[in-house]
Amino acid sequence: AANAAASIEGRGIVKTFGGFTAVDGLTLDIRSGEFVSLIGPSGCGKSTFMLMAAGLIPTSGGELLVNGKPLTEPLTDIGIVFQDHLLLEFRTALENVMLQAEIRGLPLVPAKERALELFGKLGISHAADRYPKQLSGGMRQRVSIARALIHNPSVLMMDEPFGALDAITRTQIRHDLEMLWLETAKTVVFITHSIEEAIGLSDRVLVMSPTPGRVVDEIRIELPRPRPAHLGDYPSFNT
Ligand code: ADP
Ligand code: MG
Repeated sequence: AANAAASIEGRGIVKTFGGFTAVDGLTLDIRSGEFVSLIGPSGCGKSTFMLMAAGLIPTSGGELLVNGKPLTEPLTDIGIVFQDHLLLEFRTALENVMLQAEIRGLPLVPAKERALELFGKLGISHAADRYPKQLSGGMRQRVSIARALIHNPSVLMMDEPFGALDAITRTQIRHDLEMLWLETAKTVVFITHSIEEAIGLSDRVLVMSPTPGRVVDEIRIELPRPRPAHLGDYPSFNT
């Protein structure tokens, strides 16, 4: 069943590590079903924001709302593609995804069917029984995306998922992701260093300042992109 996509709002979020302020007054608004890119210099707090938004680390100040409610515990309705794909080396691609299904408490037979279906959509069916080190960087990243989607979360967050990949692989994965997004209408937060990728993929690009990070600019993509019918028109920005 398709979940209603989630919204994420930050109101003056602060994050300190000891005496160091990593994020200082981050205010942003990610609407349900939107594909938003976050760009900004290294160290500005992009990954930190992602971990806070997932409820994996606490904020030090400000407000973080998911679906309009303060986030008080780890968000389970989220799939994360970490900056380093973080696959388990001694598990095959399929086992990596199935382990996640088990952790999520999914019934295993349908989960396996879904895993294989995702592998098919991501063009890695032939990799199911291979180990991560037998796979190319692009294939490992696709396994990582399949793992993030196994429980059909309504939010998908990807932290520089294409960083280490060559241009052709990036373009292919980008295309697959676009297809998946169209099918599933998830809220997507895409962290990247590439303004081209950000503009090519998303509805909106949020630009962060150097440390301590906050959103300093916003690029709204004006080109009409295909959009799932059930999401209706593009969000209105008149507010
Ligand atoms: P980005 O993902 O934008 O490159 P990060 O969110 O990883 O930036 O980091 C933001 C800042 O916070 C950096 O200066 C980083 O060194 C610091 N930082 C991140 N995580 C920790 C941590 N667990 N402890 C101390 N400092 C951290
Ligand atoms: Mg980072």
